[in-house]
Amino acid sequence: MKEITIIGAGAAGLFAAQKLSQRSDVRVTVYERSPKAGTKLRASGGGRANILNTNILPHHYNDENFIKKVLEKADYDTLLSEFEAMGLKTIADEEGRVYPSTLFAPTVVNVLLAQLGTKVNIRYETPVLSLKTANGKWHINDEEKAYDKVIMASGSPAGMVVQKQKGYNHYLSDIQIKTKKLAPSLTGFIIRNYPKSLFGCRVRAEVSLFAQNQLIFKEKGEVMFKEDGISGIVILNASAYYNRLENKDHCHLSLNLLPDDTQTDVKRHEEEFGSLAGILHPKLCQLYERHPFDLRDFKMEIEGLYGIDSAQVCSGGILTSELTPDFQLKRHPGLYAIGEMVDIDGVCGGYNLFFAFASALIATAKL
Ligand SMILES: Cc1cc2nc3c(=O)[nH]c(=O)nc-3n(C[C@H](O)[C@H](O)[C@H](O)COP(=O)(O)OP(=O)(O)OC[C@H]3O[C@@H](n4cnc5c(N)ncnc54)[C@H](O)[C@@H]3O)c2cc1C
Repeated sequence: MKEITIIGAGAAGLFAAQKLSQRSDVRVTVYERSPKAGTKLRASGGGRANILNTNILPHHYNDENFIKKVLEKADYDTLLSEFEAMGLKTIADEEGRVYPSTLFAPTVVNVLLAQLGTKVNIRYETPVLSLKTANGKWHINDEEKAYDKVIMASGSPAGMVVQKQKGYNHYLSDIQIKTKKLAPSLTGFIIRNYPKSLFGCRVRAEVSLFAQNQLIFKEKGEVMFKEDGISGIVILNASAYYNRLENKDHCHLSLNLLPDDTQTDVKRHEEEFGSLAGILHPKLCQLYERHPFDLRDFKMEIEGLYGIDSAQVCSGGILTSELTPDFQLKRHPGLYAIGEMVDIDGVCGGYNLFFAFASALIATAKL
């Protein structure tokens, strides 16, 4: 019997455990530092879990070429079939975002856990603090038990309060491995000279991201004005593209506040009706009255991003160049890395959970 261990009972770890539980030649032990499985998955998609996207576009990830190779082995149809075989019914919205039909994120965790049976032992509240190898086997936390293979699926500290971020993936320091520094992604922007009076305002806008006056990203969606910066799905997506820039000097966002209206002449409208109240959110109207600005090019200078605690994912992690196509570490045979701890991050829309599941599927295929 092959002994396999998985570090982390999150989206990727649970999916890997589920796949291995179907095999008669392996016994699986999962180490999970928290008292529950799938904590992040339960909170994802605003509690609905946007698990997949019907149209996974490689350019929506930081490493297009790596994702193209992943898609050759596991695409949307492959994963949908996997979930259907577990009894999970899904629905897709008009933008291709796929959710469990219950629209309740814990459903996905429950379906995965229900599949595990007795061959998978999850050791809750057991953080992995050390990972060492001897005689071709692996030992966790200096325990005597030896594992033939280890799947690292311990994610990233994105979205966690600062104190809980401690100890995350600390065991990686035991092994020789090249990583890229973690940075928050899918998060809001902190804006220089931010007009605080806009706090609480939500508007639809076309958002463009410019770096040194070059257009990097453009998308329409809802923008939420926070206390010191802006958020909303379209802004989170812009943050993923911002993260990929080598030079982050002189970056700004431009908001077209009339995203679906190319006709209205703003000056004439103001003259005719005495104000912009009929086409603009009241808080923006008040700001405009104090300092008129171009409604189709409302410029916001970027100071930076919110922290890891407010981010949905982290960019950075284990470099893809360290991995074989089946997610094994090139210099450590028997050791695998999947999910968010790999230096792959995508935009909102089911892209990150897709990668967690796809990498788990590929890694376990030949194990
Ligand atoms: C608020 C929020 C909403 C999101 N919504 C979506 C969405 O709708 N769609 C989407 O695609 N993505 C979404 N994401 C991102 C997505 O949830 C993650 O990319 C995904 O969960 C990563 O899966 P993972 O298994 O790699 O890591 P995780 O789900 O983070 O799981 C890692 C597990 O490892 C455990 N662990 C960590 N360190 C150790 C250790 N040393 N020892 C033992 N266990 C350890 C953790 O406790 C955790 O259970 C969202 C993220 C957040 C924060």
